[in-house]
Amino acid sequence: MGILFILLWITCGFIAAGIASGRNHNAGVWFVIGALFGVFGLIGAFLLPDKSKSAEKSATAPNTSDIENQTRTCPFCAEEIKAKAVVCRFCGKDVPPVETPKQEAPITLKESELSKLKSEVGEDAVQLSSKDAQAWHCVCGSTNSLEIKNCGECKRNRDFVLANYKLRSL
Ligand SMILES: [Zn+2]
Ligand SMILES: [Zn+2]
Repeated sequence: MGILFILLWITCGFIAAGIASGRNHNAGVWFVIGALFGVFGLIGAFLLPDKSKSAEKSATAPNTSDIENQTRTCPFCAEEIKAKAVVCRFCGKDVPPVETPKQEAPITLKESELSKLKSEVGEDAVQLSSKDAQAWHCVCGSTNSLEIKNCGECKRNRDFVLANYKLRSL
């Protein structure tokens, strides 16, 4: 009788531990509880909330503070600054925003502005001139590499076009 009683209680411990570990609780602790309290320990294990679901939730939740914590180096003093910083906190210089690889698109004009441009530049003008890291955009609509001095399409001079037919000059 005594041995059976102990076996039953230990079995309760194993079952309680099994239930507890299935719900992401400490199996060792629940083995002791099951072995000590027998059937009552089992009931306790059954009533455990399932921790695995809530644990999964917090594990897959996106870390929204990632962007806040990203850093980059200041182009002027090479110190680590926040990725979103617009002014370097070490040298005080304005740093370019992170989304720099964006190319400057040719400026599109309103109908009235375009006719004004045409009257000033010529009938072939379709846009204002602009310049980015690799190329300059001629008023005629063609894009030329920066080292080309005269537009491949209309033969206008690069420096003249860029100096005179840009947004502010109109
Ligand atoms: Zn700096
Ligand atoms: Zn041109």
